[in-house]
Amino acid sequence: EAKRAGGRRAVTSHPRLLASALERTELERRVREAAESRDFELHHQPVVSLSDGRVLGSEALLRWPGSGVGPAEFVPFLEHSGLILEVGAWVLDTALRQAAAWAAQGAPLSVAVNLSPRQLVDTQLVERVRSGLAAHGVPADRLTLEVTETTLLRDVDAAVETLAALRATGVHVALDDFGTGYSSLAHLHRLPIDVLKVDQAFVRAATVSPRDQAVLRSIVALGHELGLTVVAEGVQEVAHVHLLRALGCGRAQGFLLAPPVRSEDVPRVVDVPPVGAGSPTADDLRAD
Ligand code: C2E
Ligand code: MG
Ligand code: MG
Ligand code: MG
Repeated sequence: EAKRAGGRRAVTSHPRLLASALERTELERRVREAAESRDFELHHQPVVSLSDGRVLGSEALLRWPGSGVGPAEFVPFLEHSGLILEVGAWVLDTALRQAAAWAAQGAPLSVAVNLSPRQLVDTQLVERVRSGLAAHGVPADRLTLEVTETTLLRDVDAAVETLAALRATGVHVALDDFGTGYSSLAHLHRLPIDVLKVDQAFVRAATVSPRDQAVLRSIVALGHELGLTVVAEGVQEVAHVHLLRALGCGRAQGFLLAPPVRSEDVPRVVDVPPVGAGSPTADDLRAD
């Protein structure tokens, strides 16, 4: 790491750089330890219907209790070291076990699992998914696998093939963080996906500027034109709900609707009170 950053001298002459390199090494060591001792937990964030507040499913989100770091920070280390294969297999198995437990409690919710780039090129992925579903008795259409554009665009042809094989098992595929990757539009129409998850940046910006609102409107329309289910991420304000409803986007996730919760609590959050019920007003569509 030090060599790549410009040689030993360069690093030691920059105390801040050295400190952050040490922090990275230390974090990497802790992540490795955590993966080995299985210190992770899975929390779940509901996906909510914007028309009636119904919980339609949930997304499994990796947590590392007591570490003070979130997945956006530590998943890249898991990915880089290859540990993500092991941890990702645990995530998939755990999410399916939890989904089976919810169903047994009368809440047969679907569950979404995030896949990292390495998992997508893992030749065992399709079999792992198939056997996981069978082992836990979860119907395939109750599982959604989330992949990002960046993951797919590394090798579009291979990704298309893998996603098609996954969909052939009956699971759904979602394109996550849509709009933040590269040249997505060139490939979007040929990706075998079911769901488009609109990145929270678009949702947030759309209630602030008319131009950004035009972008969000176009993304929602494009998703629908391609026959996809569109889910908005990062809904934090009532204005977001009103706008999304007005744009015809019926599903969303966000702290306003429901934060990530522990698996045991998922069956109890099935009734999210409808936010800002009623028809959109001219005010809802005004972006200023
Ligand atoms: P993601 O898949 O796009 O997940 C959504 C993230 O947005 C989650 O962050 C969630 O807590 C956060 N979020 C939800 N509603 C709101 C909101 O209203 N406002 C804001 N500001 N944020 C909101 P989290 O849990 O920190 O996860 C970050 C990323 O880490 C995920 O983004 C995903 O890319 C990755 N990740 C999480 N769990 C896993 C996993 O099991 N496997 C893999 N490969 N990646 C994971
Ligand atoms: Mg996701
Ligand atoms: Mg996302
Ligand atoms: Mg996101």
